[in-house]
Amino acid sequence: MALVDFPRVQLTHTPTPLEPLPNLTQQLGGPRLFVKRDDCTGLAMGGNKARQLEYYLGQAMAENADTVLITGAVQSNFLRMTAAAAAKLGLRCEIQLEDRVPNMGADYHSSGNVLLHQILGCTVHSFAEGENEKAADAALETMAYRIRADGGRPYVIHLSQEHPPIGALGYVDAAREILEQTAQTGTKIDLIVIPSGSALTHVGTLVGLRLLGSALPVLGICVRRDQKQQTERVLRRANETAELLGKSGIIKPDDVWVSDRVLAPGYGQVNEQTTEAILLAARSEGLLLDPVYSGKTLAGLISLTRDDIIQPHWNVLFVHTGGTPALFGYQSLLAPNSL
Ligand SMILES: *Cc1c(COP(=O)(O)O)cnc(C)c1O
Repeated sequence: MALVDFPRVQLTHTPTPLEPLPNLTQQLGGPRLFVKRDDCTGLAMGGNKARQLEYYLGQAMAENADTVLITGAVQSNFLRMTAAAAAKLGLRCEIQLEDRVPNMGADYHSSGNVLLHQILGCTVHSFAEGENEKAADAALETMAYRIRADGGRPYVIHLSQEHPPIGALGYVDAAREILEQTAQTGTKIDLIVIPSGSALTHVGTLVGLRLLGSALPVLGICVRRDQKQQTERVLRRANETAELLGKSGIIKPDDVWVSDRVLAPGYGQVNEQTTEAILLAARSEGLLLDPVYSGKTLAGLISLTRDDIIQPHWNVLFVHTGGTPALFGYQSLLAPNSL
């Protein structure tokens, strides 16, 4: 099936800007940096999930669903944007918060995206077990069963790999957007740097580029799993995405490039390099990143630049996937003297 044949709803403000980062480029003294502003997709403060949701909720609407279910971390941007999209489309929304990040403060559990979930008015469940993707999805299935028994029509957005990578389709389209923008402005990009979590953003971008005949390398910065696990996941999900689009075989193992050098101590946990990257982007470009995804991704980019793995003569496009509201959930870690 071609991309245009998948059901889709309109949720985003696109194309998002693609801009140079002259001050950050100068400060780092390495490659010329550009940013794809996918923090500006719209939909209740924006981010990459708006593009993914256009396809998930397209399918939900095509199936005549009345309730959407999703699971994620407590400060998940996906849950926030799903609640917003559901409100906009007139669907009920139930979200499940997974307690995946240890030792977090009151701000993490009440501010940032958690506050926005409440304002957006969805039903909130908690999943205390934390890190267990399949069990979290199974809990959603139990909720869906209950909703069906009550005569409702649930649509589940799964996070585990056992389900089709529908969300990646949003980034297949974003890849086209990036190629059009760089062609229009005559900007030659040598590398795209992007966060790699569930991997659908990474995979969609990669598949979109290859579908359009571009060999541009995509480097995924691990935000949740180590390099080995993420490499397997990206390859598997990329092949599945290509297959969904009837283009099996366009992704080669060599297309998959991930780095986990700034992942420690783990998902959603801040390290020194990430704090440095957040402050640097804010103070040189007025660009607000987040501690879980975009800040870690810039930290990875900086680290690989310092070691000359990302070459100084390259033009590098950093994809800002949003997440900014999570800053408020990390106040006690980012500005410990402010409380
Ligand atoms: C979810 C998320 C990501 C990771 O995207 P995946 O498609 O899950 O890999 C990156 N940045 C932000 C801000 C996110 O919310």
